[in-house]
Amino acid sequence: MLIRGAREGKVLVASAGVHGDEYEGVRALFELTTWLDPARMSGDLLCVPVANPEAFWAMSRTNPVDGANLARAFPGRVEGTLTEAIAHTISTAILPHADLYIDLHSAGVRYEMPALIGYYTSMPAAAEAARVFGAEVIWGHPVVADGRTVSRATELGVPWLYTEMRGAGRVHADDLAMLRRGLRNLLRHLRIIEGEPEIVTPRWRLHGDGNIDKGLLSGKRGFLIPLVELLDTVKQDQLLGSLHAIDGTKIEDYRAPCDGVVVLIHACPLVQPGEPLFLLTEVHE
Ligand SMILES: [Zn+2]
Repeated sequence: MLIRGAREGKVLVASAGVHGDEYEGVRALFELTTWLDPARMSGDLLCVPVANPEAFWAMSRTNPVDGANLARAFPGRVEGTLTEAIAHTISTAILPHADLYIDLHSAGVRYEMPALIGYYTSMPAAAEAARVFGAEVIWGHPVVADGRTVSRATELGVPWLYTEMRGAGRVHADDLAMLRRGLRNLLRHLRIIEGEPEIVTPRWRLHGDGNIDKGLLSGKRGFLIPLVELLDTVKQDQLLGSLHAIDGTKIEDYRAPCDGVVVLIHACPLVQPGEPLFLLTEVHE
């Protein structure tokens, strides 16, 4: 969807629904496209509210047609699988237009994460945009894993941000309010719409890898009982939770591999082998 301003200016590119079970960003972009008035804009909003339609209709993180994770498929291939073709289209037809790019993720149906804004620490323009977005939790990443929308943006030299939200297959009112304010702030920051950004002082500054593929993984299937909450500070070897068989007996314990802050919990008690259960990162002083 393209909302083209009456006057020339910068282009904000936004995407949501890269994972099909993440709804907060989809709704925020629906609202934004109806709320913006092109006659009062200097520059454009180019957005993809549902980037992965097959996964969206299946309520699935991955694409049911080829089983692939769109957020691991960039830059994609035009003659590849459906997922690779979607990645290629976003890589070539959407991202190159961006002066700033934001990819709206959330924890999805199975996980829970704090509402946060994330950025790449090697891009000063992204660090500034993350501050302007206005989130209580701000997370700087020193490395960008391959295959993401944002790794493609990095290759293109486009400053980028991403969000995480609470998820669990819902759109929480306060998370939606944060997204509305954040997107409006970015449009103001780029001078696409008039007004000054509404700055929020972050309560948490996180630093480190955000790759959930590297979180604590389950070894078996079972019923998860977490012993920590989001944004709890934990010590190395602290017990984070345990997995139980269907007679209630404990079959696995999960301990913190390092000191850190809890940024992801497998929110659905039913766990399959190999799923990420907890992710920790560092707090930046
Ligand atoms: Zn996601």
